[in-house]
Amino acid sequence: MLDLIDLSRGRSDMGTDEFLAHGYEVLGWMAAYLAGNEEHPLVPQAPPGAVIRALPTNPPLEPEPFTAILDDFRTLVVPHSTHWTSPRFMGYFGLGPCAVSLLGWMLAEVLNPPRMLHSTSPVATELEVVTLDWLRQLVGLPHPLFGMLHTNSRVDLALIAALEALGIGSSTRGLAGRGLPRLRYYASTESHLSVEKAGIVAGLGREGLRKIAVDEAFRMDAEALERAIREDIEGGWLPVAVVATVGTTSTTSIDPVPRIADICERRGLWLHVDAAFAGLYAIDPHMRWILEGCDRADSLTTNPHKPLFMPFNCSVFWTRKPELLKSALSVSSAYLHQSHRGEDGPPDLNDYSDKLPHKFPALPLWMVLRYFGQQGIIAIHREHRRLAQLAAQWIGESTAFELLAPPTQLPVLCFRAHPQGMDEEAQLRALNERLLHSVLAEGRYFLSDTELKGRYTLRIAIGNIRTIERDVVGVWEELQARLPAALDACQGDREGGNR
Ligand code: PLP
Repeated sequence: MLDLIDLSRGRSDMGTDEFLAHGYEVLGWMAAYLAGNEEHPLVPQAPPGAVIRALPTNPPLEPEPFTAILDDFRTLVVPHSTHWTSPRFMGYFGLGPCAVSLLGWMLAEVLNPPRMLHSTSPVATELEVVTLDWLRQLVGLPHPLFGMLHTNSRVDLALIAALEALGIGSSTRGLAGRGLPRLRYYASTESHLSVEKAGIVAGLGREGLRKIAVDEAFRMDAEALERAIREDIEGGWLPVAVVATVGTTSTTSIDPVPRIADICERRGLWLHVDAAFAGLYAIDPHMRWILEGCDRADSLTTNPHKPLFMPFNCSVFWTRKPELLKSALSVSSAYLHQSHRGEDGPPDLNDYSDKLPHKFPALPLWMVLRYFGQQGIIAIHREHRRLAQLAAQWIGESTAFELLAPPTQLPVLCFRAHPQGMDEEAQLRALNERLLHSVLAEGRYFLSDTELKGRYTLRIAIGNIRTIERDVVGVWEELQARLPAALDACQGDREGGNR
């Protein structure tokens, strides 16, 4: 086989001059894209499968010029992207990376240091330790708090530590075949799906999660939690943990953490707070209230890739009990010698995680914190919250739209079109689905949807660093302008159905 390959056609890495020339071109494209000079529909217009069909099925055998690859990026990758980076993208949490985070990632990737053991690249660990302590101070959580960066919100790590805290030997002997009681953890019906996935990964299973009802403002009902725990104990279950959410995905409601902490302390349960979206709004001292009671949590997750303008994947896991993670997850090997720097030395972060190696997100995060500073971040968050309040006011005053969840001071709104005289849930659902699809098909704005107490709901989320008032005015005008056609189409559907 080997002699069929013509090795004279091999190539080494790009030379410095070529790298510079292409690098300027790439950066130029990125700058134009961020400035909005690259206008694209926010949602791909081609049918699903278009990229797969456009690409050769066989892998490249011969070297190709970088310009050809870049051309395909422009003509194939960009038009088939959903443009989350656009200021007019207001779906989910309206995320979007800032320029500094992108530059920081480029530098992190060129160093490519594995954050694994301290010794595999000391700066990867030490910058993370310092940056997460800055972040802790910025949101007002008490010292000491062990922090670590992960790609995503790691509720599974909280469950692993909670099991370790029980002292049932879960990390050494496993959970099966030992006559243990069935294990239970609790989260509200509005908790994120990652909470359920975490139980599957940590061995508690889907049935291990008991979902607790919410009140009229979509916050966990603490009394219902108390009742559920009591019932479970009477039924022979072993309660392990409670996951409270600060900023639920649909409405950004905030569970009553102080009351939940009381219950956890009384029952000896691990309290994990999922503050993936909302936690970092506490950087603004006026928003500190959202983390009330979180100083009593055993662990807490929050995502700089949401309101801190970092690209995916950058999530903080904080815990007051890192020794439990370490006793559950530390594994030694002959080829990776753990450092022995004593209690006060920088940790081998690999001991506190199931993954190795990890990239270097601490570098862009450190740069973002320095570039904006607390004041800069607060200014952007306040503007986003002002824009959301403005939109809430327009919706509240409109006769054709209504809010479906009380605004929470976080920049997300849940609403729907509700024209006078149309009160059937099925009709309202059909109308709002049509309205959303017509906005998405036009491609100028991106909104997302959810379901609240059985009602189909539209969401506007303002979180992109480049979103300004003009964009929010624009999406509101677009919704109003498209409503009559959506109504006509629904009317047509009904008449067609009646014939
Ligand atoms: N928790 C909440 C409340 C969320 O809204 C999300 C995502 O939107 C997550 C957890 C999961 O976040 P990720 O997987 O991006 O870390």
